Amino acid sequence: MRIHDIQQRLAEAGAKPQHTGRIIRAWVQGRSLDHGTRHQPSESFLPLSVREALPQLSADLQNLAQLRSEHPGADGSARLLVGLADGQMVESVLLPRDGLCVSSQVGCAVGCVFCMTGKSGLLRQVGSAEIVAQVALARRFRPVKKVVFMGMGEPAHNLDNVLEAIDLLGTDGNIGHKNLVFSTVGDLRAFERLPQQRVKPALALSLHTSRADLRAELLPKAPRITPDELVELGETYARQTGYPIQYQWTLLAGINDSQEEMDGILRLLKGKYAVMNLIPYNSLEDDEYQRPAGERIVQMVRYLHSRGVLTKVRNSAGQDVEGGCGQLRARAVELVNT
Ligand code: SF4
Repeated sequence: MRIHDIQQRLAEAGAKPQHTGRIIRAWVQGRSLDHGTRHQPSESFLPLSVREALPQLSADLQNLAQLRSEHPGADGSARLLVGLADGQMVESVLLPRDGLCVSSQVGCAVGCVFCMTGKSGLLRQVGSAEIVAQVALARRFRPVKKVVFMGMGEPAHNLDNVLEAIDLLGTDGNIGHKNLVFSTVGDLRAFERLPQQRVKPALALSLHTSRADLRAELLPKAPRITPDELVELGETYARQTGYPIQYQWTLLAGINDSQEEMDGILRLLKGKYAVMNLIPYNSLEDDEYQRPAGERIVQMVRYLHSRGVLTKVRNSAGQDVEGGCGQLRARAVELVNT
């Protein structure tokens, strides 16, 4: 379901644009749909035909994203396994400091070699209403002031739905534009469309290596944009919006943690409006990839930082419960199938 399907349904029930706006605002803010105010109770402003349609609409919107299970982590985050109306499942993650990570696709076609979601391929797109429904669901637990599109899926491969959701979240959803973070491996369509939006989100770019040949191995189905080209595109967007680009670098021991790679980061990012996020890989048992040792990670951060690249270590939220992106859903599917 897309957001305009909800608008159309309300119009068919007799809602005027101001009624529709108010009802959709209530939904995205996690309130009941017929929520009025002390001075203007709902009964006084909604036509009867609309009021009669609300209980079924409310049930259908709740059905868009239902909580299947919650997995709290020690770091204050919590992974939510979210069931969609057709029985598919995605993950949302409640992040510390009122953040939420949402999924934009069921599965993903990019196939990053270190990612569990990539192993299933793309199963289906997540509709714009289903993306917003993940926020409405999370707001039943706690406030949400930041939404990052870093859950399952590549947002640039579901661009219309993601941009619609961003537009609603950045207007009626009360989320500051720089607190909406579009995360991508890099896709020219995203770089063309994001600057044209009235709500321009911040941008996170998955870089992972400074070498074009290694990037093609690690992200086999990502668009063939070289690291140099990606950083140039990112820098243009950062200057247009005034927000730094968050570069993502999943740290894999023996693969992209060498001195040569650190110098590659310096070559690419020194002087750029950028933050480098090093994300130590979250290994499962018998995994072919491992995270570098803690001492090595500290050395890397010091090296980059002292040479002018703002660098942070980010642990994948909730990693003590089920690991990185898509692992919770994979485990749930495993359980369902056994
Ligand atoms: Fe897709 Fe992101 Fe996983 Fe890569 S890391 S396969 S882009 S979900």
